[in-house]
Parts: sequence; C-alpha cells; structure tokens
Amino acid sequence: MKTITLKPGKEKSLLRRHPWVFDGAVAKGGGDPGETVRVHSAEGQFLAWGAVSPSSKIRVRVWSFDEAQRIDAAFFRATLSIAVSARGLFDIKSNGVRLVHGESDGLPGLVVDRYGDTLVAQFLSCGTERWKQQIADALLELTGLTRLYERSDASVRELEGLPRVSGWLRGQGDTAVVLQEHSWQLALDVAEGHKTGFYLDQRDNRQAFFEAARHARWGQVLNCFCYTGGFTVAALAGMRAAGMRPEEGHVTSIDSSGPALDKGRGNVALNGFDASQTTWLDADVNTSLRAFEREGRRFDAIVLDPPKLAPTAAHAERAARAYKDLNRWGFKLLNPGGMLFTYSCSGGIGVELFQKIVASAALEAGVDAFITHRLGGAPDHPVALPFPEGEYLKGLVVVARPLK
Ligand code: SAH
Repeated sequence: MKTITLKPGKEKSLLRRHPWVFDGAVAKGGGDPGETVRVHSAEGQFLAWGAVSPSSKIRVRVWSFDEAQRIDAAFFRATLSIAVSARGLFDIKSNGVRLVHGESDGLPGLVVDRYGDTLVAQFLSCGTERWKQQIADALLELTGLTRLYERSDASVRELEGLPRVSGWLRGQGDTAVVLQEHSWQLALDVAEGHKTGFYLDQRDNRQAFFEAARHARWGQVLNCFCYTGGFTVAALAGMRAAGMRPEEGHVTSIDSSGPALDKGRGNVALNGFDASQTTWLDADVNTSLRAFEREGRRFDAIVLDPPKLAPTAAHAERAARAYKDLNRWGFKLLNPGGMLFTYSCSGGIGVELFQKIVASAALEAGVDAFITHRLGGAPDHPVALPFPEGEYLKGLVVVARPLK
C-alpha cells in the first residue's frame, strides 16, 4: 500500500473530515491514477484512505477516515446502498432522482441520476474511474435496473487527466426519456442534455413556482436561462390550475442553447399547453433584458437561473458583479408587486454574499423589495456537514413593493 505524507500542520482539514487533499499539502508520496493510498500526517498519524489524482490540484479524494476500512467492491456497494436508501426518506414527487451526489454521499467525483428506468452516471475523478465497473454493478443491483448511461464528458475530467467519454455502460436502447415531475412531464435525452440531461436540483423550486403562479395568477412571466423550460411548464401548469384562460397568461423564455429551446417547445406541447402562451428567445439574457427595459416591457414574475458564474471562491468577486448586473435588470423589469425568483448555483458564492448582491441590485434599480422565501437544492442533493461547498444552489424569492 502506497502512502502520502502531508506537510506539518496540513492534517487539520482531514481531521475535520473534509474529503480533499490539495497538492500543496503533500510533503511526499503518490500513486497511480485512482490508486488507493494511505494518507498520514507529518508525524505518521493515520488520517484517511483516498484515491490519487496525480495531475489534479485536488491530489487525493477521501474514501474513508476509518483505518480498518478496506476499499474494495464491498465498500462501494455499502456506500452506494446508504446513498440510495437516503432517497427513500423523502416523498420525491418525480421519477427523476439524484441517487448519488458526490462528496456529500461519501463518493467524491461520482454523480448518479435516475430517470425512470435509466441510470445516468458521471465518473469525474481518477478514483471513480478506477472503480467504475464495480460501481456500475452495485448500482444495477441496488436499483433493480438494467440500463446505465455514462456521461463522463464534463470538462473537469481534463483536470484529472481523463478523456471525455459517453455511451451505454450497461444495457442499451433509446436515450430519450420522459420525466413525470409533480403534475407535469418533461422530456430529455440522457445522451445530449447538460450534465446528465436535466437539472433535478431545481425540482422543489419548480413546484414552488407552480404554487406561486397558481395563487398570484401572473399574466406575464419571464424565464431567464430556461434550458428545456422546466420553470416555463411549471408556470403554465399553475395558470391552468388557477382556471386562467390561455390568453390570460404568457411565459417568455430565454436561453442561448437552440437545442434546449426546441426541447422546451416540445415540453409545452407534451403537457397540452397552447403554444401561443409562450415565446422562446434564442438569445443572450443580458442583451434581452436591456432590450426589454428600452421597450418598456414589464413582468409579474421573473426567474433568473444563470449557469455557475463562480465555480470557486477565487472567482467570487468577478462573479458577484455579474450577478448584481443581472439582478438589477431583473428588478427593473418587475411590475409593482412582481416576484423575482433569483438563483445562484456557484459553490464560490455563499448564501449571505448572495443576499448582499441581490440587496445592492435592488438598491441600484431603485426598487424596494422584501424576501419571502429562501430556496435551495432538493433533498436528493444533500450537503455533507464537513463539506459546505456542497451547498451550491441557493435561491431567493423577492417581492417588489409597492403592491398593487
Ligand atoms: N432553469 C433551468 C436550468 C438553467 S441552467 C432548469 O430549471 O432546467 C443555465 C442555462 O443558461 C443553460 O441552459 C445555458 O444554455 C444557459 N445560458 C448560459 N449563458 C447564457 C446567456 N448568456 N444567455 C442565455 N442563456 C444562457
């Protein structure tokens, strides 16, 4: 068994059970890509078993802090079993569920989503790559499913020195699936979509949007960064549930991805909504918001769900300016009493900072507003206590005064 020895004092984060060892903390030792190594302190104290990523800044990702633990197929089966069982604690209103959420499920670098009878996995680290076959077998056994599609085509694979791969790892067939989420359906293609095909983390926030649309009977809704129209469909479902006629409610959806917008149009039809209730703009959100302001367009509800602008805390300052600009435009376009549903999925921007950014955006827009809800990731996207970075998704519902 190979050993990695840390520099003096560099054991502190591992003693707090944070699962990463950065290259700068290593005094000596290493291993082959994905190999299990013993990590110990400068004084020789056992700290953890982890997988080596020789070319990454995150040099070791921890599998276990228990010296007696063997890292083998049984370990992965047991850890996956706990992750899958945890999803049974909640009544998840969808057949699309995140089964494994990386570090927070004790499996750094592994993401597994279930869409109906199809599993989709991302193996994003050398360690998960090394144990891929054992992990795939255990997942099929634990879920009773037969199909697993691999989407290891994320750019982070390159930091690990791994090629991008995608395709069926187990089973085969059509990669198109239809999700039944809350009271609507959403089509996706596991081979083509972003990440594993869809944004499951926003599931409960789509339901909150539906409830608000139904209750507030919005006439004009703007969904920015709409992807395949999840929030669009939720708003239309809310309008229908409120008994509104198609001409009484309209949703404008913006994204810079043409294929995502095509899926969005398809999702509107799939749920039996009238296409005349929607406008789809293949455009840059920032440019569109400026144009709306010039044209005097106003909305009763606006969703801002931009991509990750600050992947790490190091990008926070620049990203903070981008978030503020975006939110300032959002506030300017709200009708009095309108509601802004604003999100950040940046691990590098914490909840408090996000609220400060949104507050200064409102100030600059000259809008008086109050927060009514604080939103986050759905419960199948847990946050391990020693890994606060796992809390990447945060959202605020902000209502502009004066009310009508
Ligand atoms: N709200 C969506 C997820 C949004 S993900 C859902 O619930 O499913 C972020 C989206 O922003 C992606 O679809 C991406 O194509 C889009 N995007 C990124 N930069 C953009 C820009 N400058 N203008 C418009 N869309 C953009």
